[in-house]
Amino acid sequence: MISNHYTIIDWESKQEVIAHASGKLRYMKLDEKSVFNKQLTKKTKKDVKIVQISPKVGDYVIYDDEDDTTVIREIEPRKNDLVRPDVANVDQVILVFSAIRPDFSFNLLDKFLIIMHKERLVPILVISKIDLVDEKTLDDLQSKLAYYAGLGYEIYYVNSKQKIGIDVLTHVFKDKISVLAGQTGVGKSTLLNALMPELELKTQEISEALGRGKHTTRHTELYEIHDGYIVDTPGFSKIELSIFHPDELKQYYHDFEMLSTSCKFKSKCLHINEPGCAIKESYLQKEMLASRYENYLSFIEEIKSQKEKY
Ligand code: ZN
Repeated sequence: MISNHYTIIDWESKQEVIAHASGKLRYMKLDEKSVFNKQLTKKTKKDVKIVQISPKVGDYVIYDDEDDTTVIREIEPRKNDLVRPDVANVDQVILVFSAIRPDFSFNLLDKFLIIMHKERLVPILVISKIDLVDEKTLDDLQSKLAYYAGLGYEIYYVNSKQKIGIDVLTHVFKDKISVLAGQTGVGKSTLLNALMPELELKTQEISEALGRGKHTTRHTELYEIHDGYIVDTPGFSKIELSIFHPDELKQYYHDFEMLSTSCKFKSKCLHINEPGCAIKESYLQKEMLASRYENYLSFIEEIKSQKEKY
């Protein structure tokens, strides 16, 4: 995008078209009933807001030709609207975790999953560098992750360098906008290169090695990938839970939700010290993966200590 110029891809021909945004787009009325962006209108309630809207990566737009130029007339309502990365209409997030270097962290996994759930994003888990751990370590990791598969999460295991596990992963991209995310060093660029050998992501490899500061000015771009599109994101070293209230956290756990109907306090139960809590009982009986419950307790503490700082 160069000063009000956007590259759009025609739905039917798949050809790239350079267009500019119509001036009218910039002043869209957003009220309670507006479907444009539910997250935005939720906060404003009764106010009718005139909001400046610019097309962003991931938008579906209606365009036509005017004189010698192509003009974007309308932006379709956004299914979701992310800020980092700056992209709309994301269907799923490819969450990459390495089996080692950095070590696999169930704490980070659970953190990601609750954030995805809150943002209504579908996660696809990809475990990388499986060749770098011994068989026993991998078996142990897979048996714990089987618990997550049981909760309905899709999980793939890959060795990107040898292209093992890559073929089965390619089908997830079809007709979807995916975001690639993961901690710094998990091998996102290596995975992308294995998935799209035609696209040499050399520059990204370099900036990944230089650390996250280098990424801040890079603009968001969609890459074509196996009949869909993908957006790469910078690696990160830390994610925060500041968007959560401690009382709502439990509702983003599929396993807690399934068990909570048998909780004595039903939806009021925080699953911490309430007597007769089915979730705590499941943990004590070792039916639930221990780290699930332990991480939950630590997240509650983390959120509480963050809130106190303000
Ligand atoms: Zn409970």
